[in-house]
Amino acid sequence: MQLIDGKKISLEIQEQIAAEVKTLVATGHKQPHLAAILVGNDGGSETYVAAKIKACENVGFKSTLLRFAADTSEEKLLEAVVGLNNDSDVDGFIVQLPLPKHINEHKVTETILPQKDVDGFHPVNLGRMVLNLPSYISATPYGITKLLEAYNIETGGKNCVVIGRSHIVGSPMSILLAKNTKYGNCTVTLCHSKTKDLKSHTLNADIIVCALGIPEFLKADMVKEGAVVIDVGTTRVAAPETKSGFKLKGDVKFDEVAPKCSYITPVPGGVGPMTIASLLMNTLLAAKKEIYA
Ligand code: NAP
Repeated sequence: MQLIDGKKISLEIQEQIAAEVKTLVATGHKQPHLAAILVGNDGGSETYVAAKIKACENVGFKSTLLRFAADTSEEKLLEAVVGLNNDSDVDGFIVQLPLPKHINEHKVTETILPQKDVDGFHPVNLGRMVLNLPSYISATPYGITKLLEAYNIETGGKNCVVIGRSHIVGSPMSILLAKNTKYGNCTVTLCHSKTKDLKSHTLNADIIVCALGIPEFLKADMVKEGAVVIDVGTTRVAAPETKSGFKLKGDVKFDEVAPKCSYITPVPGGVGPMTIASLLMNTLLAAKKEIYA
């Protein structure tokens, strides 16, 4: 069994980005600039946004954080999005999800200019990705393709099960794995809460991507020997013994599944750091105007 070290790969990507930023700036280009909008003070969102801002510092990007109270109106938030769309110094920006219930996430996402949508959530970017046109690819699935590439994991012709069909992880992941690319050419089964006899699918899978948000959902008896297991889940569970009072749990019962795997990602330190690396890669592409020339 080999552990897939997402933290290491993410840092390697960040080093490459930092070198490229130095060259860009030395040749008269402005510093790439990522902005983030954070609404409310959800602990998880605070942590993710802080990690993204820190990663910007690591690679030499400028970053801006716009904070809004949890009761901010949808109208005010949309105004901020339009403001960032029109700010020529900002190359790309994200609106950290989830948003409070009174705000329509789709409306917010669709208001972001596709050219600045470095999270890759806008329908134009999703559509372009499906059509093999240049696009920003959703950060988490993009990061997973980079992990598969980094570890030279053979995907062509393999049976792959993706569990979870969210718009930001499971669905785009299933499309990417089926594409005719180096990290694709899988035969993909997309499972969800209405899937019958999920175990019969996972037992037939060479690669399993777990993205459902139920801690330790995937057990050893659901996995065949030699499978590659990618754990996207990050659920906060209470852990009074830790400083923060919680621990991050993946969707995979790691201790019992890992011995059966050829490769497996840990939580934390697997997919999470790659999501950040992908966001930085997308922002660099935005700064270089490579996707929408
Ligand atoms: P989501 O929007 O909550 O969707 C969950 C998906 O799981 C749904 O499609 C749901 O099916 C499916 N599901 C729920 N229970 C199931 C069951 N018993 N059997 C099979 N499928 C089931 O999830 P998400 O936003 O993609 O997030 C999933 C997890 O990934 C969460 O833990 C989240 O925190 C984590 N995450 C991590 C990163 C990272 O960077 N590491 C990034 C994004 C998300 P239905 O569609 O039928 O309801």
